[in-house]
Amino acid sequence: MNRDAILEVKHLSKSFGANAVLKDIDFVVHPGDVTSIIGSSGSGKSTLLRCINLLETPTSGDVVFHGDSVVDKKVNAAAYRAKVGMVFQSFNLFNNMSVLENCIIGQTKVLKRNKEEAKEKAMQYLTKVGMNPYINAKPRQLSGGQKQRVAIARALAMEPEILLFDEPTSALDPEMVGEVLEVMRGLANEGMTMLVVTHEMAFARDVSNHVVYMADGVICEEGSPSDIFENPQNARTKDFLARFR
Ligand code: ADP
Ligand code: MG
Repeated sequence: MNRDAILEVKHLSKSFGANAVLKDIDFVVHPGDVTSIIGSSGSGKSTLLRCINLLETPTSGDVVFHGDSVVDKKVNAAAYRAKVGMVFQSFNLFNNMSVLENCIIGQTKVLKRNKEEAKEKAMQYLTKVGMNPYINAKPRQLSGGQKQRVAIARALAMEPEILLFDEPTSALDPEMVGEVLEVMRGLANEGMTMLVVTHEMAFARDVSNHVVYMADGVICEEGSPSDIFENPQNARTKDFLARFR
């Protein structure tokens, strides 16, 4: 066991029928790591995050959180997801609830916090992402960038140990990408442990300390941002990165 690790993905494979989407994936996340996962559409990035968050069941292999396997029917998925939060491309806010209610519900239901404490935490994190003026708004009244900032505040209000982001800026109009990346950059600077699937190569290069390049369900190459962006070894990594120049 890797004692310093928060999260270990071990020999993880996932198939949908005959389609082997993830093949023997191995990597480790340490406290404070900001890991970017890059790769073409269809390479298995979302499936990997979904397996880590227990939204999919791996076909084989393991996901280990602080030394304990979480791939077991007995694991309380909701309690685990409070510690390993997720932010989705399409926000996944509750559209019938206000911004404030979106940030309270998980805390009261899963963490059993009382309403006052939950509200206080919600306000704290909504303020952090600059969405405190909108507490009574419904998601439909917000821009995409605002919705994503609320989704980040909602995840933060659970005070997770790791946050998973699945292309958090891909559904946004270009002028809103910056405000979300700015929030994420702030979290990274504060030492938040993050696993980020992204096509924002500047973010991967400048903010993360570890970059994983996936292709066809395998990790083709991983390393520091300078390893991957300045000195890629694998021909597929080089081809992929050339598309962003
Ligand atoms: P990425 O996020 O890198 O674009 P995905 O993990 O979404 O890749 O998808 C990888 C492959 O897995 C694709 O071929 C996709 O069609 C397939 N896939 C993903 N989810 C499912 C599912 N629930 N059922 C069947 N196939 C799926
Ligand atoms: Mg995806």
